[in-house]
Amino acid sequence: MPHHHAIVLGASIAGLTAAAALHDICDRVTVFDRDTLPDGPGHRRGVPQSEHAHGLLARGRAVIEELFPGIVTELAAAGAVPLDIQRDFLWVFGDRAVPRVESGLAGLSLSRPLLESALRRRVAALPGVTIIDGHEATGLSFDGTRVTGATVRPVAGGAGQEVGADLVVDATGRGNRGPAWLAELGFERPREERIDSGTVYVSRDYRRVPGEQDFAGILSSPGGAARPYGGVVIGVDGDRWMVTLLGVGADQAPPTDPDGYRDFAAKFPDPRFHRLLCDAEPLGDPMRLRLPASVRRRYERLTRLPERFVSVGDAVCSFNPAYAQGMTVAVAQARELGLVARDGLDGLPRRYYARAARIIDVPWDMSAGGDLAYPHVEGPRTRRTEFLNAYVARVQAASGHDAVVGRRFLEVTNLMRPPQSLMAPPILARVLRGSRQRVSQKTITSTTSTVKAMTHQ
Ligand SMILES: Cc1cc2nc3c(=O)[nH]c(=O)nc-3n(C[C@H](O)[C@H](O)[C@H](O)COP(=O)(O)OP(=O)(O)OC[C@H]3O[C@@H](n4cnc5c(N)ncnc54)[C@H](O)[C@@H]3O)c2cc1C
Repeated sequence: MPHHHAIVLGASIAGLTAAAALHDICDRVTVFDRDTLPDGPGHRRGVPQSEHAHGLLARGRAVIEELFPGIVTELAAAGAVPLDIQRDFLWVFGDRAVPRVESGLAGLSLSRPLLESALRRRVAALPGVTIIDGHEATGLSFDGTRVTGATVRPVAGGAGQEVGADLVVDATGRGNRGPAWLAELGFERPREERIDSGTVYVSRDYRRVPGEQDFAGILSSPGGAARPYGGVVIGVDGDRWMVTLLGVGADQAPPTDPDGYRDFAAKFPDPRFHRLLCDAEPLGDPMRLRLPASVRRRYERLTRLPERFVSVGDAVCSFNPAYAQGMTVAVAQARELGLVARDGLDGLPRRYYARAARIIDVPWDMSAGGDLAYPHVEGPRTRRTEFLNAYVARVQAASGHDAVVGRRFLEVTNLMRPPQSLMAPPILARVLRGSRQRVSQKTITSTTSTVKAMTHQ
């Protein structure tokens, strides 16, 4: 193994998985975080979103298990709930829940602090890896070509010190200063794409009595301008239901008073959501969060990049949480970084950002495109976005009647299959029939051609 030292800034989902992906390429990996990290599962200041329900997509579970073999079993022993995504979870995209059949799509329902603490424990045990908390990164060192380290400063007080490295990874999340650091070194900032759906989240925990419900969670998906509200319930460790209600736009914000909170769910199409909030014992008060815009930073389009410095996770792209993609895309990028680094550290940023962009493209199109279904959301609307949103609305309607369409939609939203697979002729035929149109073979053939043209297949 070459004698490389990598520094990872940020010890959350992206930083910890990046450290794991790099540890057998670099003989030393040092991870810094400005928070004081708890010994076990615990909320902390640097990750305020951990009090809100965090769904882990099937793709995210698979990548985490690949990087940390056996971790799903460990998490299950600590109270996480392994599940078959279609059979055990109620997905309400249109007016009815997707039929519940075995799908083979493996999910894991758990709290964000439990996931983070398990990753932290596993990473800290890796040879050559050190996690140092209470230290804030404040800038980069640069020799004119390469980033040669970072400056970190003890949060408790004291001078910043320069730490030398062969590779610096910025995993400091959505508020990161990567673009400003690049500008300080004389490089252009990456172009940013922003979509602000104005979504407001309000979350509350409830006691979960194992076995009392025959489902592990419910998603009541918001449905465009006609239904700009929704919510998610997930059964997690500590015998809790974590509930997050959301409204798209400030005038749709879920109430924070307990009665208003419970009754917000009465307007959801599937009554089981509201019933659960009526029957389960609340643990604590509802907590509100209004997020800034979703932001994608186009590092892959920069013509000049310093060597030996890359960003991962929310630092590159932070999504609208309603689509539950952030952690999965973060760990997929971290895995890719490890794969790319195997071919050497020279020229790494360009190779890595090209591949990270391919990981981000689909989920970004899905979430940014989906947000544009709301008339108040500003952003570039093309005929393609409008066509795709109209088609997805039909897929969602059909998925309430047809388990095969439901499964395909879940595979796509769980990032296990590309979105084009929703347009395969057998699925397209079922979607058109499922949305109760009379369809002939001719209609299917001509719609297939339109779909191919619109999606550049
Ligand atoms: C309300 C809400 C709900 C969400 N729900 C889901 C969901 O259901 N599913 C899903 O997959 N994703 C969800 N997400 C997104 C998910 O939380 C993020 O995608 C994920 O946390 C990204 O991980 P990260 O490691 O890139 O950044 P973060 O988790 O934000 O971590 C950044 C880390 O960097 C540290 N840090 C920051 N600045 C510095 C510095 N200068 N020096 C040192 N350390 C620093 C912080 O302390 C923190 O530990 C949700 C987000 C929100 C807000």
